[in-house]
Amino acid sequence: MELPFSESYRIKMVAPIKKSTRQEREAWIKAANYNLFNLKSDQVFIDLLTDSGTGAMSEQQWAELMLGDESYAGASSYYKMKTAIKNILGFDYFLPTHQGRAAENVLFSVLVEAGDIVPGNSHFDTTKGHIEFRKAKAIDCTIDEAFHTELEYPFKGNVDIKKLQKVFDENDASKIKFFIVTITNNTSGGQPVSMENLRAVRKFADEKEVMVVIDSARFAENAYFIKTREKGYENKSIKEIVAEMYTYADAMTMSSKKDAIVNMGGFIAMRDKELFDKASTFNIMFEGYLTYGGMSGRDMNALAQGLDEGTEFDYLETRIKQVEYLGNRLIEFGIPIQKPIGGHAVFIDAKRMLPSIPKEEFPAQTLAIELYLEAGIRGVEIGAILADRDPVTRENRYPDLELVRLAIPRRTYTNNHMDVIAVAVKNVFDRKDQIKKGVKIIKEAPIMRHFTVALERL
Ligand SMILES: *Cc1c(COP(=O)(O)O)cnc(C)c1O
Repeated sequence: MELPFSESYRIKMVAPIKKSTRQEREAWIKAANYNLFNLKSDQVFIDLLTDSGTGAMSEQQWAELMLGDESYAGASSYYKMKTAIKNILGFDYFLPTHQGRAAENVLFSVLVEAGDIVPGNSHFDTTKGHIEFRKAKAIDCTIDEAFHTELEYPFKGNVDIKKLQKVFDENDASKIKFFIVTITNNTSGGQPVSMENLRAVRKFADEKEVMVVIDSARFAENAYFIKTREKGYENKSIKEIVAEMYTYADAMTMSSKKDAIVNMGGFIAMRDKELFDKASTFNIMFEGYLTYGGMSGRDMNALAQGLDEGTEFDYLETRIKQVEYLGNRLIEFGIPIQKPIGGHAVFIDAKRMLPSIPKEEFPAQTLAIELYLEAGIRGVEIGAILADRDPVTRENRYPDLELVRLAIPRRTYTNNHMDVIAVAVKNVFDRKDQIKKGVKIIKEAPIMRHFTVALERL
């Protein structure tokens, strides 16, 4: 008999989590104005709000914390990080930053000017924010396959090269200085970009003489999908695949809170000395001196170690199989989810799960509230509340998809927790006919409203 799959680690330290009663949760969510961001973490049993900074560090990472060098300049921790980035990602130059959006802020201070156009597969919200803040335009050139949740396509994160060409045809090409490829493509559901597509983007960029920047938060998960889905890569190691991926990039921004498995941190890496020199000035202004850039020495050590562990196949297999396990349990229960199952999260199609809630009553938010009431599980709405209002007309924007994202923190929960989540979703699904009313906004901020919005049940 074939041995079943199991985790590639054992547990050494645990943190208690608390169950609660439905009555308690009714009161807590009401006091939180039906906004799950307002809940205290101890009011949550299984927290799937994000996989960012919520992973469990290894014993080697904790050991590295003790070895941190907190020197202001030239700390050994900086050199550990530099060596890891050179060995694993291949870049000669890098700048530490406190997290991913800070890396974007520093790099775009050099690269983005008012009136510029930055095309990519799908820009992450902070990436788009930093582009639009500079009065430039971010254009998503996502392949059409990504918009069909039921369609099984192995690389739904890919850039559509024809759409890229269209951006050149319809705009002043001198305003386009670089492309951003986000791997995995967070916005389209943690979907990977193929090596073939990265190669095509590089070729196209060379023809147009523009740079390629890889938004790298989940680069290792992307490499896992290349290994398991793309022809010719099945026998390559994750580190070999990662090394090839970055030969197609001029620079990268990184949120280390994802695939480097640390609680805080980020960086920019690049090939060009001139770009490094220009970005250095902004790094000193916004983040800190060049050899720490907003990070403690101990955190740089843990990050360097995390980059190494995060690019090991056994770790990635455990991680991605857990997300897949949850997705498959939901599919067995007939729950409509986005397919194929992504690398870091499962996305539930709320319009199909709660068909009686009209879009004006925010079906995804309603589902996220119901799931919390059912079992104390905190997911996040990716729907009209997040999509916010049109900046000009101030009308609500209603995206095609109303999703609830269940993001799985790395090395944090067991498959027993996945079973609890799956059954909780099923229980909500079973009583969907009783859920006839959604929510209404009673107070919202002028931008980024989803974090602070106050709601009322209808
Ligand atoms: C998380 C993330 C960012 C921003 O990083 P932070 O560390 O949260 O600031 C940028 N791009 C992608 C794809 C991300 O997932």
